[in-house]
Amino acid sequence: MDPYLTNDLKDIEAAVREFCAKEMEQEHLHELEDRHAYPRELYRKIGDLGIIGAGFSEDVGGSGYGAMGHVVTVTELCRNLPGMGMALSLGYIPGFVVDVYGNDVQREKYIRPVVEGRYVSAISVTEPDSGSDLGSAKTRMDEKDDHYLVNGSKVFTTNAGYADFYTLLGRDGGGLSLIIIDKDVMESNAPGHFEINDLGRKMGINTTTSGELVFYDLRIPKDNVLGQRGKGLKMVLDGFELGRIVIAAQALGAMLYGYERAVKHAKKRNQFGRPIIKFQSIEHDLVDMYVEIEKCRSLLYKTAWLYDLKDPESKKYSSMVKLTVPQNAIDILNRTIDILGGYGYMRDQGIEGALRDIRITSIYEGTGHMQKNAIAKILF
Ligand SMILES: Cc1cc2nc3c(=O)[nH]c(=O)nc-3n(C[C@H](O)[C@H](O)[C@H](O)COP(=O)(O)OP(=O)(O)OC[C@H]3O[C@@H](n4cnc5c(N)ncnc54)[C@H](O)[C@@H]3O)c2cc1C
Repeated sequence: MDPYLTNDLKDIEAAVREFCAKEMEQEHLHELEDRHAYPRELYRKIGDLGIIGAGFSEDVGGSGYGAMGHVVTVTELCRNLPGMGMALSLGYIPGFVVDVYGNDVQREKYIRPVVEGRYVSAISVTEPDSGSDLGSAKTRMDEKDDHYLVNGSKVFTTNAGYADFYTLLGRDGGGLSLIIIDKDVMESNAPGHFEINDLGRKMGINTTTSGELVFYDLRIPKDNVLGQRGKGLKMVLDGFELGRIVIAAQALGAMLYGYERAVKHAKKRNQFGRPIIKFQSIEHDLVDMYVEIEKCRSLLYKTAWLYDLKDPESKKYSSMVKLTVPQNAIDILNRTIDILGGYGYMRDQGIEGALRDIRITSIYEGTGHMQKNAIAKILF
């Protein structure tokens, strides 16, 4: 019995598993990575099948299962093939801030197409000189009649170049505000008013971009402001709460991926005349991995459950899972490589790629240090 997963959620989990078994292939992932191409077709399919929508509310076409819905689907996507599951979920995780703070018109215009798998979202908050310290962002949003003029630059935007809309954090008078930059805005501005630049090669998630956006007097209608002006930083930090939970789900999925492959290999691989699982050191490693997974899974489900209940404790828990599940995922994938021996180091086995992909989960949407700062602030 599972105290958190209802029968509906178990059915969704089984449906995602079935989809992954049919549609996700490691060779396809490697081919996309080599071309640095986003899996747009698969993204469209998970939209059509309601996998993206599981956690979104019904008024924008979702199924209304909230954070638990997102956690179950993202865990299962990443359990099958972490790099692909991460890329697919990174198509909609950046849209959470618009879903939480957008008005009815904005949610209908941007979030419904995300739920349907037609729109890929992006969020641009990090700047060259402001990463953890987002409050020091310098990008300017200057008010002019019925629009804003945006000047400045953002770095590391996931999905830069192919996203259908970006949520940007900018300095508006004294405070920080959020504004949506969509394709209409991009296309209606004269060339030269923005640039999207590649930031070069990176360690993992190579089917997604992590680009630089540069703005020169980019004109954005005032209607595109998200939520309350001057409350941009608070909205980003609060809006990231669900993001942190779902990123932990990416990491939990990768833990399961590693563990399941390690068990399979240990049963099959013979050395000294017996399967290596018969060596107590290997068996104990697998037990440690299993226990870590169960600890992370329980903490993550509890966190999603608190978030869905709008319990104020969820803020602390979302930082706790963002801190601990990625660390454990990195550890488990490292141990998996050891259990696979030399084979674990080879690309075709998928584990070294999964380790490189999952490494970012302890950095983006707030590093482990920043999560500890947030937890300490609540505790003491
Ligand atoms: C692949 C990738 C995808 C990304 N996607 C996005 C995206 O879509 N949108 C976006 O806006 N950004 C994105 N980012 C940026 C990411 O969120 C930042 O890199 C991250 O928040 C850390 O900021 P920083 O890199 O500037 O590091 P810094 O803030 O410079 O931190 C460096 C080190 O100092 C520590 N540190 C800093 N301040 C403190 C403190 N007060 N207390 C203790 N330790 C501290 C940090 O924990 C870290 O160890 C992405 C980054 C990457 C690499």
